[in-house]
This record gives sequence, C-alpha cells and structure tokens, in this order.
Amino acid sequence: MNILVVEDERNLADAICHILNEAGYNAEATYDGRSGLTSAESGLYDAVVLDVMLPKMDGFEVVHELRRQGISVPVLLLTARTSTTDKVEGLDAGADDYMTKPFEAPELLARLRALTRRQGDVMLDELTFADLKLDLTTHDLSCGDKSVHLSGKEFEVLRMLMSSTSRIVSKQDLLTRVWGADADASENSVEAYVSFLRKKVKHLGSQVQITTLRMLGYRLEVFENLGA
Ligand code: CA
Repeated sequence: MNILVVEDERNLADAICHILNEAGYNAEATYDGRSGLTSAESGLYDAVVLDVMLPKMDGFEVVHELRRQGISVPVLLLTARTSTTDKVEGLDAGADDYMTKPFEAPELLARLRALTRRQGDVMLDELTFADLKLDLTTHDLSCGDKSVHLSGKEFEVLRMLMSSTSRIVSKQDLLTRVWGADADASENSVEAYVSFLRKKVKHLGSQVQITTLRMLGYRLEVFENLGA
C-alpha cells in the first residue's frame, strides 16, 4: 500500500516514512503543500499523511482542493496545534482524521489502518477478474483448480491491473507504483514482468489476457473460449 507523507520538517518526514516502511507500507515524502497536492492528485497513493503547517499551501488548503476535485483518498492531518478550531477546520475541509504532534508510532499505524480499511476493496482477501482469482495474502494466482505463486513484483503488477479493470494502466504508473524509488528500474522492467505474468496466466488456461495498448499501457481483457 502506498502512503504519501507531506511534512516540511524533513527529519519528521523521514521518521514517519521509516515507521511506515518498517510496517510494510511503501511511503514517500514531499516537503511542501503544493508538491504534496500534485502527488496526491496522481492517484498513486492509498492514503495521505498531511501536516497542517506547510510552506506554499497549508494542509487545509491541500485537502480542500483534493475534495473539490472529487479525489477521495483518505487523509490523516497532522497538527502541532491542539485547538479545537484546527481540528474542526481540518475535518470540515475534508480530512478523514487528525493526529496531534508529537505522536507515537503505534498511534500513527492504528489510525492509518482504520483509514485505509474504509476504502472498500483494499481489505479484501482476494481480487477476481473473469476466471482469475488473486489471493492477496498468499500471492497465489488461480484459475479453476490450477494455481501458481507470484513473485513480489509480479503480484504488485497484476494487483494493479486487476484493481483497475475498467481502465488502462500505463507503464509509467506501474513503474512508479511497483518499483517506486528504485532508480535502476525502467519500462523494460515493467515489460519483463508483464511477460512473466502472461506466461503464468497462459499456464493457468485462463480466458484473461494482458493486452498491450500501444503508447498507452496495459489492460486485462477476456477472450472467451480461447484455444477451445
Ligand atoms: Ca510543518
């Protein structure tokens, strides 16, 4: 799960990312309100940890702008201030929850768990698409009574494709979301993993194919009676 941390105190931002990464999230930081807004708008994050006092745009403005655009990503506001007015203002602007600094790691994790749980599909144990079933706990992909185990990256790539069946997923999205800050990764890495996945999907005898849309990316499609 990808978490965006927007906090201008770099030590704190890095500490929060460290806590989140240790807990198994993929956390990335930005250090001012405007770049935080741009990152949150990308749709690549499952939740945003957002400081209130930020340069360029404060946290209230960021969350207000996200909601104005109809972006419903869960937002946890961080505030150093404890006045009730701030809390009310934050929630009014569209934040889902707030936390007062300083805080302990377990509180941060508990609040994030609660926030991400509210997003319907992320807590499901499995994703399905046509005759394919992806177990989100064991990373096993199955079709009928056949199943194969997916490697970490294969799993992340297919999870994105299966969660976004109504739309095309670009190579760049996959690269950003699955490989994150890995500077050695390129679109070739994405292509390689899609090719591994195609072999596994074919091996399962599924009706599903990962279709390449030139210049756009990938999409899952169903071909009935394939090979029959
Ligand atoms: Ca701050």
